[in-house]
Amino acid sequence: MTQPRPRILIVGGGYVGLYTALRLQRKLRDGEATVTVVEPNSYMTYEPFLPECAAGSLEPRHVVVPLRRVLKKCRIVSGWVRRLSHERRLAHVEPIEGPGFDIPYDILVMCPGSISRTMPIPGLVDIGVGVKSVGEATYLRNKVISQMDAAASTDDEELRRRALTFLFVGAGYAGIETFAELADMAFDSCKWYPSIEPSDMRWVMVEASDHILPEVSPSLSLYTMEQLRHRGMEIHLNTRLRSIIGGHAVLDNGIEFDTDTVAWTAGVRAHPLIENGTDLPVDDHHRLKATAFLQVDGVEDAWTAGDGAAVPDLARGPGAFCGPTAQHAVRQARRLGSNVIAELRGRPLTPYEHANAGSVASLGLYKGVAEIYGVKVRGFPAWFMHRTYHVSRVPTLNRKSRVVADWTLALFFPRDIAALGALSTPRSAFVEAAGDWPRSEDAVWDEPEPQDSAIRRTPERAG
Ligand SMILES: Cc1cc2nc3c(=O)[nH]c(=O)nc-3n(C[C@H](O)[C@H](O)[C@H](O)COP(=O)(O)OP(=O)(O)OC[C@H]3O[C@@H](n4cnc5c(N)ncnc54)[C@H](O)[C@@H]3O)c2cc1C
Repeated sequence: MTQPRPRILIVGGGYVGLYTALRLQRKLRDGEATVTVVEPNSYMTYEPFLPECAAGSLEPRHVVVPLRRVLKKCRIVSGWVRRLSHERRLAHVEPIEGPGFDIPYDILVMCPGSISRTMPIPGLVDIGVGVKSVGEATYLRNKVISQMDAAASTDDEELRRRALTFLFVGAGYAGIETFAELADMAFDSCKWYPSIEPSDMRWVMVEASDHILPEVSPSLSLYTMEQLRHRGMEIHLNTRLRSIIGGHAVLDNGIEFDTDTVAWTAGVRAHPLIENGTDLPVDDHHRLKATAFLQVDGVEDAWTAGDGAAVPDLARGPGAFCGPTAQHAVRQARRLGSNVIAELRGRPLTPYEHANAGSVASLGLYKGVAEIYGVKVRGFPAWFMHRTYHVSRVPTLNRKSRVVADWTLALFFPRDIAALGALSTPRSAFVEAAGDWPRSEDAVWDEPEPQDSAIRRTPERAG
């Protein structure tokens, strides 16, 4: 009689999920185990490219990797794990269509990542948007361009000022990169808007701590801040957003202004499924407790890594934990995959250890900062390093080629400034077409002042 094959369940098809599954499908022998990945999206998102996606330097489809295409030996389930009993080895899945069902498993890899860390700031939930997904990045791009369209189409100074004011909260690398990339796109796009000068725009970054880009050294952080301020962008340190009701921003340094665009990039927290939907142990920061071998601490047959896990950082010493970075997530995933296979084959496990190599950040076209193994780089060379590093990291030759093609085309053609706002409400035109068109006799017209009219009618024709 044949032994039943162990069933490996991977919750989340992001960095950790994809790279763990890739390692498992490559290294597992035929019939050694089955691998199921549950993920609501049909793709893995390469998050470091989101700022460039928001700025239109990269096509949204090129910053994602289709799971079914790369994980041919795995079963992909499109849906959300809503609760999980590890004691019973059962995960309850809500598929993207149809009723929920349970998936039994033998070995769990828990990697649902993180979500934006928000705060109960009055009005924030009505207007704010994160930068964690392709949808959010695309929305921000459309939003900035449509705000420029709106400003260029009105003479109302107050409306113009509001439309051209963009607020960002949180100056880590995700926040600073998106802030700098989007502003760069907007400043560059002014050439297509004769009535908008870069100086008409207000780009405001609010940061609660006393510095930006905590991932790089103080001198590089200062350099970045000076560069952005030199472009006319405002950075308020030691400052918090107090409220944003109806788009009226109140900062705790006394500054107030109106805006329609609020990007929230103030860090991430472990996915709430981990604490609220499972019987697995969490630490004080709501992350899954992990060992250096990437097992869930004190639990058999459960593994974890990435943003949602508190993985000891052996390179930094006792008490330190790995930060929520792609750099760790990819390496942890490979180690995790190898350890799962080692455990299946009764071999010893290897602990995860990686010394942070540094950071690279793009600050707009041809501008960047980088710090690699303590070496600080600025301007064009840093921007070039950022691009070469990430293109070497993005999975699959297909995606690498498309990303390089996007960048190459951008060298020869100006940026696209079409705002595809209808993407977020694609059915509205059809619903309008199916409804009653307002009759012109019901409309109320403002009487224009004679000097407002570009076409002068003769008294006879005007009747
Ligand atoms: C804008 C931005 C820029 C960044 N830039 C850098 C950078 O330059 N360098 C760097 O090192 N790091 C960077 N990071 C951080 C890096 O992307 C993350 O650390 C990394 O994605 C973490 O991997 P993960 O697998 O833990 O989570 P993710 O990659 O977020 O994957 C989690 C997956 O789980 C899925 N999921 C969630 N809930 C469920 C559920 N209930 N059921 C099933 N699946 C679920 C999600 O859909 C997601 O696909 C950046 C992040 C952002 C947002």
